[in-house]
Amino acid sequence: MFIGHLGVAFGASAAEPRLKLGTAFVAAQLPDALWPVLVLAGVERFAIAPGDTVVTPLRFEHYPWSHSLLTVVLAGLVFGALVAGRASRLRQALLVAALAVSHFALDWLSHRPDLPLWPGDPTLHGLGLWNSLSATLAVELPLFAAGVALYARRAARRGPVLALAATLCVVHLGNLFGPPPPSTTAVTFSALLLIPLLWWWGNRVDRAARAA
Ligand SMILES: [Zn+2]
Repeated sequence: MFIGHLGVAFGASAAEPRLKLGTAFVAAQLPDALWPVLVLAGVERFAIAPGDTVVTPLRFEHYPWSHSLLTVVLAGLVFGALVAGRASRLRQALLVAALAVSHFALDWLSHRPDLPLWPGDPTLHGLGLWNSLSATLAVELPLFAAGVALYARRAARRGPVLALAATLCVVHLGNLFGPPPPSTTAVTFSALLLIPLLWWWGNRVDRAARAA
């Protein structure tokens, strides 16, 4: 799941106007932000294995720190405490942590059983929505559209919001229907670059959306 996570971020930023869109993006993608760093450090592993599930050619072999429920909750709380503004600090921190946990929940729905609840969990979890492309699209696209609609409804300027949403859709469809990535290195570095890009673009759109 990719734009489904971002749909949740759009919705959260619409519900809590003090939470900037870029910050909400990073929170909702927090496990995927930590993941390439840990892959580069040799702590986590994945492989390119087309057909592993219908939707993604990536096989997540070992990612107990970026993607276990326990560490996602902890990372979410730490990130929430760091980014929450002074006003209603606790509420914002908890919302950011909840966004990180929403990432785990949606991954749990999508992935085949490859997610631990804590590092060292002997049982891996995942409901395997990714075994069906149509079921994945049926869940992910409405989730994304609903989040964008909630956010756009409150935006003073909708053009930048819709341009960002359309770009994310195109990237997502390219990932779904394009050829598998050339190497794990390419995947890792694109994942690494994606996070600051989402943060920057999200906050830029946020400024435009809130401008009177
Ligand atoms: Zn993930």
